[in-house]
Amino acid sequence: MTHVKHLVIGAGFAGLGMAIKLDEAGESDFLVIEKDAGVGGTWRANTYPGAACDVPSQLYSYSFAPNPSWSMSFSPQPEIEAYIKRVADSSGVLDRFRFETAVEHAAWQDDDQLWQVDLSDGSRLTAQTLISGSGGLSEPKLPDIDGIEGFQGEVFHSARWNHDIDLTGKRVAVIGTGASAIQIVPELAKVVDHLDLYQRTAPYVIPRNDRRYTGLEKLAFRHLPLVQRAYRTAIYWGREMYVPGFTLEPKLAWPAKRLALGNIAKGIKDPELRAKVTPDYEIGCKRILISNTYYPALASDTVDVVTDPIAKITGDAVVTADGTERPIDVLIVATGFFTTEQPIASRITGRTGATLAETWRETGMVAYKGTTVHGFPNLFQLVGPNTGLGHSSMVFMIESQIAYVVDAIRTMDRDGYSSVEPHRDVQTSWNDDLQRRMQRTVWNSGGCASWYLDDQGRNTTLWPRATFTFRRLLAQFDPSAYAVSTPDPIQPLPTREGVSA
Ligand code: NAP
Repeated sequence: MTHVKHLVIGAGFAGLGMAIKLDEAGESDFLVIEKDAGVGGTWRANTYPGAACDVPSQLYSYSFAPNPSWSMSFSPQPEIEAYIKRVADSSGVLDRFRFETAVEHAAWQDDDQLWQVDLSDGSRLTAQTLISGSGGLSEPKLPDIDGIEGFQGEVFHSARWNHDIDLTGKRVAVIGTGASAIQIVPELAKVVDHLDLYQRTAPYVIPRNDRRYTGLEKLAFRHLPLVQRAYRTAIYWGREMYVPGFTLEPKLAWPAKRLALGNIAKGIKDPELRAKVTPDYEIGCKRILISNTYYPALASDTVDVVTDPIAKITGDAVVTADGTERPIDVLIVATGFFTTEQPIASRITGRTGATLAETWRETGMVAYKGTTVHGFPNLFQLVGPNTGLGHSSMVFMIESQIAYVVDAIRTMDRDGYSSVEPHRDVQTSWNDDLQRRMQRTVWNSGGCASWYLDDQGRNTTLWPRATFTFRRLLAQFDPSAYAVSTPDPIQPLPTREGVSA
């Protein structure tokens, strides 16, 4: 059986960044397993028309791999995917990536102090550490609508766009008005015969302050790295200004609310349509979206916004609760992802024989520092519980976690630990503190439902503090928070708590 020191799951921003930083730290014995055929993760999977990032690329990129040639302040998906590929190609780590292979199951072997991992190609590996970068937005969620399986036309999810279907001149329905849908709708409105947009909850959409970089700026980015660093820093702090409005006092977000309401007024003249698309909850409760083209598209003759709930789908139409039947050729579901139950969690079995999904059944997703989990020695999760953001770059959070994992590995090597596992009480107090802070946030109290909350209303996805606080708290691995084991003979070192369940 093959043994690697570190097994990384996923080749998106997280997995690739992890591989690069492991290599830099001299930890060259690793393997990255990726179910897709190349690097890129979510930026490879989401190829729908109009896909682009709503965080400026100067910030939404690795700090260690600045890209002087971003064309726009908010880059389109192909440019981001190309950037990730370029970073991967020049990193020298791709020889340790295995593509088109999925992790079927990983189980911790306490006697051997190893992860035993079964892969979809039938092979089995062992690894000392298991580092998951499998992504918070990787598993599309299909809506459970009566009759949808009997629809005779084409149906696909926004994250699995079917490029073989030419939508020109077609009657199309889009279900959902989240970040994906509001990018798709203006593009489809240009080509389809008719588009019905099924809106359950109106989003707040502020103007997209986008522009092309000038030749001079690009020249400066290429030759004066400090200039690009200054742009990045300015964007970072600009974004961080949102945090108090999200986490302390929603009223502080009034400038954003004014922008959003102004965006509606500018894009839509019809009072009835304006009323339909005006949200009835606090801004920030759901992700704040950005677009200059969404409202004008809704106001066009091509698009109808339907707010009556969907009752069922027939072979060729969507039927709403008021009995109206709207015939269509193609159905596009932009209904989001499984976020509060990570799909990888049912594939990872810990020290007690329970899977991560079973362990989280009662509590919701919990971890220590969003990264390690009691009962799961040597498991590190990038983009783990409560590491998501509503306002800034996930790459910043990912890099903070990568640094923590690298330091954990360095500590394990230096001090001769075969495994590290967070104490239950340390993990509990970390999460109690997060949930206490969460009560004041607009995400929990802003009067909306969102993918941030699980079915018990717990916010297990977002980070409720400044991002620089997250970075500071993860700056150094903290062995005192962990039960540690030393190899052969297996003897727990004195710790605050044993490694019992
Ligand atoms: P999402 O934000 O979860 O939105 C899903 C939409 O589908 C919501 O409008 C939801 O309505 C609706 N919906 C779900 N089930 C439904 C049902 N059964 N019937 C009717 N409507 C239903 O998903 P997303 O738009 O794919 O975005 C997910 C996240 O991905 C974003 O928040 C963002 O973090 C990321 N993303 C980022 C970008 C970007 O950077 N530009 C682009 C796309 C996605 P309710 O609101 O009523 O639940």
